[in-house]
Amino acid sequence: MTSPVVIIGTGLAGYNLAREFRKLDAQTPLLLITADDGRSYSKPMLSMGFAKQKDADGLVMAEPGAMAEQLNAEIRTHTRISGIDPGHKRLWIGEEAVEYRELVLAWGAQTVQVPIEGDAGEWVFPINDLEDYARFRAAAVGKQRVLILGAGLIGCEFANDMSVGGFQVDVVAPCEQVMPTLLHPAAAAAVQAGLENLGVRFHLGPVLNRLQQVANGLEAHLSDGSVIACDLVVSAIGLRPRIDLAAAAGLQTNRGVSVDRELRTSHANIFALGDCAEVDGINLLYVMPLMSCARALAQTLAGKPTAVAYGPMPITVKTPACPLVVSPPPQGHEGTWRVEGQGSDLKVLCHGADGNLLSYALTGAAVMEKLALNRLLPPVMA
Ligand SMILES: Cc1cc2nc3c(=O)[nH]c(=O)nc-3n(C[C@H](O)[C@H](O)[C@H](O)COP(=O)(O)OP(=O)(O)OC[C@H]3O[C@@H](n4cnc5c(N)ncnc54)[C@H](O)[C@@H]3O)c2cc1C
Repeated sequence: MTSPVVIIGTGLAGYNLAREFRKLDAQTPLLLITADDGRSYSKPMLSMGFAKQKDADGLVMAEPGAMAEQLNAEIRTHTRISGIDPGHKRLWIGEEAVEYRELVLAWGAQTVQVPIEGDAGEWVFPINDLEDYARFRAAAVGKQRVLILGAGLIGCEFANDMSVGGFQVDVVAPCEQVMPTLLHPAAAAAVQAGLENLGVRFHLGPVLNRLQQVANGLEAHLSDGSVIACDLVVSAIGLRPRIDLAAAAGLQTNRGVSVDRELRTSHANIFALGDCAEVDGINLLYVMPLMSCARALAQTLAGKPTAVAYGPMPITVKTPACPLVVSPPPQGHEGTWRVEGQGSDLKVLCHGADGNLLSYALTGAAVMEKLALNRLLPPVMA
């Protein structure tokens, strides 16, 4: 019997690749293996649960059984890969060996976690998948005060959504502005002001030193000496691509699992896409790039080697308190910034030395201009 094409992971990368592959090849055995419950969902919706009035179960789009049928695939859930043996084209699930024709790593990224002093670690919730979200939502029942660690894109989205959900939200982050790696300070100030208008309180600069249980909830002690009363903590301090098993198998890794434009790792029969993959030196933890990768890799797996290209990749940030679309500068490019507009409606443009648009951030009513600006942007990876 032919060995299957094996995909590790049933997130957006794994399931979209399987879908694209089945459009081209209905027959080759396909096996998806996932450490989680295999339910299909759209991860970006995790930071819109309260606005959409949906808990974790409400965000599920399909059960694994339905996905298996739709994809004509076998799906093994709650199954964690423990090793890869590229020389023999097999992987390990504990003692069990599974052979593959081609192997695709779509195993995502893991939340960065820092140890927190104090006796309340069980009240800290990282949220990076549906199961995390279910745990958070169960713990949040009857609670009113959420402390969010991290003021990046995900921290700000949760701040907006949890405010809409009726929580008092405090955000703590050791930076001078929100989304420091994505946004010009003017756009960051507009987003922060929008969230503050909702009632979100920002504590930018200090870190959380200690989290302590007290009679009526928790006390968060910050490095600047201040103390915040809260009921639970959401940790949104960052994600790190999963590379350990790939590195242990001898595959080349850097920030992510290193792959070329055909999504091929340093081993010919092993590919990677999604949050875990660093494609030609670029690791993007967004949906648009993984969709482009899924289409290209499906072609390659179906016998037509295809390189991926990334066009402009603007990100719509889900902070309705201050709508935001941002297209960060392509790696290695620097330019001159110009801020137009006022109040919450800003157009922040970055032009290169040749006068061409490199990057933008649009806030408030200015987001209406995104389509026109997208046409002027350079591709992220031509
Ligand atoms: C709250 C939030 C909001 C977001 N909003 C947006 C947005 O608005 N727009 C946008 O573009 N992007 C957004 N993103 C990012 C986007 O959702 C991710 O880039 C994308 O979902 C990653 O998909 P993935 O399949 O690569 O990884 P994941 O969804 O993390 O899937 C990884 C899979 O691998 C499995 N796995 C891991 N290790 C193993 C193992 N050893 N063995 C077996 N299986 C394993 C897991 O169980 C899982 O099935 C958001 C992310 C978050 C957390």
